Amino acid sequence: MKRALWLILVFAFMLPNAAYAANDITVTIDSVPVAFEMPPQIINDRVMVQIRAIVERLGCTVEWDDATQTSYINQPGVPLSRTAVKGQDINVYVNNQPVEFPDQKPVLYHDYVLIPSRGVIEALGYSVEWNDTTQTQAISTITGLATPPSTIPVKPDVTASPTPKPVTPVITATPTPMPKTSDGYIGNLNTHVFHYPDCSSVQRMSEKNKVYLPNRETAINDGYVPCQICKP
Ligand SMILES: [Zn+2]
Repeated sequence: MKRALWLILVFAFMLPNAAYAANDITVTIDSVPVAFEMPPQIINDRVMVQIRAIVERLGCTVEWDDATQTSYINQPGVPLSRTAVKGQDINVYVNNQPVEFPDQKPVLYHDYVLIPSRGVIEALGYSVEWNDTTQTQAISTITGLATPPSTIPVKPDVTASPTPKPVTPVITATPTPMPKTSDGYIGNLNTHVFHYPDCSSVQRMSEKNKVYLPNRETAINDGYVPCQICKP
């Protein structure tokens, strides 16, 4: 009985920390988990992450300006411009543009800036998906995989090409179709007569005399005359 009471007291003591409970939250970038010094926390029902660990994996630089309580996140090639002023909240700038946090503000948590990451990730041009079942925040650098491209902010202020940048889906060029034998006409280089490809004369023509003519106009312009048998 005493033991049971002791356990209840222990759990009661732990309850105030529940709001900051560290669940097993995983953040992945293109399916590869991010290693955090400070694990993601649930604060006021929001997943709050150590943004530095994420954006450094994305190739960004992070500068903390203590005077203005600002975290400057810049993609490669974007020169840092310290324009923030100190406010009531922690500022987060992405490529020198302030990120808005309408719900849960960034917090300092054991000397780590923890923020709801979506605003930053989307400002960087990437998409985020939360999987409640696996408690995983999946960041994709592949445009359009998780979020329709139209929702990804366009950043005209980014002059240099950042690495990594969203991977543009490779559209394989459709090769120019080879002319089908049923299309166009076959001219005879020797006789300057042109035929439908299935004309019997074509079957007898030597390969070196065959010339492909895409249409009748080309044939006539090139000085070919229609065959009297197949009448092309
Ligand atoms: Zn013919």
